[in-house]
Amino acid sequence: MMGTPLVLTDFVKRAERYFPEKLIISRTAENMIHRINYREFGRRTRRLAEALTKLGMKKGTKVGSFAWNHHRHLEAYFAVPCAGAVLHMINIRLSPEHIVYIINHAEDEILLVDGDLFPLIEKAIPLLTSVKHIVVMQDNHELPPTDLKNVHSYERLLEDASDTYEFPEDLDENMPAGMCYTSATTGFPKGVIYTHRSLVLHSLALGLADSLGLRENDVSMPVVPMFHVNAWGMPFAAVNFGTTQVLPGPMFTPSLLLDLIEKEKVTITAGVPTIWLGVLKELEQNKRDISSLRVIVCGGAASPKGLIQTFEEKYNVPFIVGYGMTETTPIVSLSTYTSDMQHWSKEDKLNIRATQGLTVSLLETRVVNEQGEVPWDGKTMGELTVRGPWIADEYYKDERTKEAFKDGWLYTGDIAVMTPEGYIKITDRVKDLIKSGGEWISSVDIENALMTHPQVFEAAVIAMPDEKWQERPLACVVLKEASTATKEELLSYLEGQFAKWWVPDDVVFLNEIPKTSVGKFLKAKLRDDIHELRK
Ligand code: ADP
Repeated sequence: MMGTPLVLTDFVKRAERYFPEKLIISRTAENMIHRINYREFGRRTRRLAEALTKLGMKKGTKVGSFAWNHHRHLEAYFAVPCAGAVLHMINIRLSPEHIVYIINHAEDEILLVDGDLFPLIEKAIPLLTSVKHIVVMQDNHELPPTDLKNVHSYERLLEDASDTYEFPEDLDENMPAGMCYTSATTGFPKGVIYTHRSLVLHSLALGLADSLGLRENDVSMPVVPMFHVNAWGMPFAAVNFGTTQVLPGPMFTPSLLLDLIEKEKVTITAGVPTIWLGVLKELEQNKRDISSLRVIVCGGAASPKGLIQTFEEKYNVPFIVGYGMTETTPIVSLSTYTSDMQHWSKEDKLNIRATQGLTVSLLETRVVNEQGEVPWDGKTMGELTVRGPWIADEYYKDERTKEAFKDGWLYTGDIAVMTPEGYIKITDRVKDLIKSGGEWISSVDIENALMTHPQVFEAAVIAMPDEKWQERPLACVVLKEASTATKEELLSYLEGQFAKWWVPDDVVFLNEIPKTSVGKFLKAKLRDDIHELRK
């Protein structure tokens, strides 16, 4: 057979050749909807590759993007790797210190920055050691007022370049194509390099009928940012399949997202639970038509069962949980049903939906403890490990590689059980696990149970030091508006559902739970806050 390399260039060529009229729709500002088709996308991507080459981009050069989800970011997603360079998608929500660290650590030479984000990066520029050019992405040719040199207008650069630029033919599938850093709840972020091969195979996996079945006739709207693990790979895959794309840009309030779903007839969308909790709240207040949706994908953190149930039963939209991480490109598993489950009871099916799902084709997952792989009994906890063609095997220039990558497996740092059907169920992060009297308590299980209480908006359960038991669980709860639930009520609600020693000793009511840059509970900060509160 031909050893044709698996490279992203083929995705651009395919979209140009077979789907020139299909659209990429971006919201670039609140009242600005921008539309281009794949013909124009191909031309602009070629122009960008040429323009960046003129600025000094060579094979292997790192180009940072500091941008929301829109067509220009999508052009960079392809122009940079297809020219042989590496797109470093910078998480704009990291702390300024971490942003400086990752740009310097990756040695980005060119930065592509959204006009509205320019002030955020401008202050950091004196601290950047490798950046030579900054390209400002916005709808016009204007440049923000600045004393900095080598600041260019994206649209001007494209105007001055040619759309007949040909991508190099000699790309190796194992060449680096992209890179992201983890959002790091402790220590500095860790870098992960994606190769052409890993991104191509991951894209194909998103198209499998038993995964997301992404296809030509979908209208795909990744709400998950393009600076966070490749927007879960959807933009790459969509170009290959000729899928219409809706990119929600800098404004993604629940109401604006619902406008896009309604008007553009979105069929598949993906984001973290906090996004869907917000969308649900808006839906409950203002009636909207979301009947175009064939699936919502939710990942990045555990999805409350109530959220899944409401979307599925009240709005009739399948709500699939996806599990993954920066190190895994990211899709590892999806909570789709097998044919055996079609006749299960509503409750059993909901329990499956709320797991982290079944491992997708070409990957292997195992839950291991000191005794080896744990039995598939839904009870025995261990650490989840993964291997496969889109799983990283190291952190970029980082000593911490040896902590996570062992014997050909990635140790995810997630504690999980396997259900008898082989579905992964995450019970905790290694660092958030509660160890009480020598036994493990899953904070996630208790949180999920609390979040099914009708008066609870959000709940996080953390370990409190305890003289007798070593650690005991404490529930931190945000109630819904005008709710009156008491500590006693919430604890007795849990008592029927868990062994006595799992039930938290206390409940603290808060206005909000601190979250990471991508909307996950930041338990380290929560533990510090509670500690302060209780001093
Ligand atoms: P970071 O590790 O930087 O927070 P990632 O996006 O790489 O950012 O996060 C990966 C982690 O997110 C996983 O290790 C896991 O703990 C959590 N996670 C991802 N998807 C899910 C999910 N569906 N359910 C529960 N936890 C999830």
